[in-house]
Amino acid sequence: MLKTAKRFFCLEGIDGSGKSTQLDLLKSALEERGFSCLKIREPGGVEISERIRGLLLDPAFKGRMSDKAELLLYNAARAQLIHEVIEPALAEGKVVLADRFSWSTYAYQGFGRSLGAEEVQHLTEITCGGCLPELTLVMDIDVARGRARMEKRGGEPDRLEQEKADFFERVRQGYLEASRKYPEAVVAIDADRTPEDIQREVLQLVLSRLT
Ligand code: ADP
Repeated sequence: MLKTAKRFFCLEGIDGSGKSTQLDLLKSALEERGFSCLKIREPGGVEISERIRGLLLDPAFKGRMSDKAELLLYNAARAQLIHEVIEPALAEGKVVLADRFSWSTYAYQGFGRSLGAEEVQHLTEITCGGCLPELTLVMDIDVARGRARMEKRGGEPDRLEQEKADFFERVRQGYLEASRKYPEAVVAIDADRTPEDIQREVLQLVLSRLT
């Protein structure tokens, strides 16, 4: 059983799956219903974690950063964010909405980098304790479809975005494995639909936990 925190929600998925689009829609929909929300971005969100983010995403370190250093840096950034932002916000009664959290580490480092799901979960327990989202929604999409959306969006790819398609396929499978293993906490939804259709399902699932 995972230890999770009430009113803490997360959207996950490979880049281009539509997480950020859906998180913004979700935040507006919840605020319209009177919930006070805080949106967070992983990795980053507070000064120490943003500096770690800079290290993690810097294309200059491509091929140099060890997989374990990467794993530990993500966890370090997360521990600081929990301490400075997430726990205080939840204590004030806010709804916390995360754009990526520990399931990213599970999928990207555990499966993408093949570091092993159990090792990653063990580290997550140390990092997060009981501060895990009560519900994580995985925007599930075909890797090539996600890529095409990213290309349409434009901009320079960061170090992780430059990985090859088989890496993202493993990441996708990691998310799906999480949804099978932890169905109470992780739900995969079909992200190859219109933003409106996806949002209807996202909002319904989140509201079912809030009421
Ligand atoms: P992520 O945060 O997962 O990387 P974004 O929300 O930034 O994804 O979306 C990536 C791109 O795809 C953006 O240009 C966005 O406008 C577009 N997009 C988002 N959701 C959909 C959707 N359901 N159908 C088509 N395009 C979408």
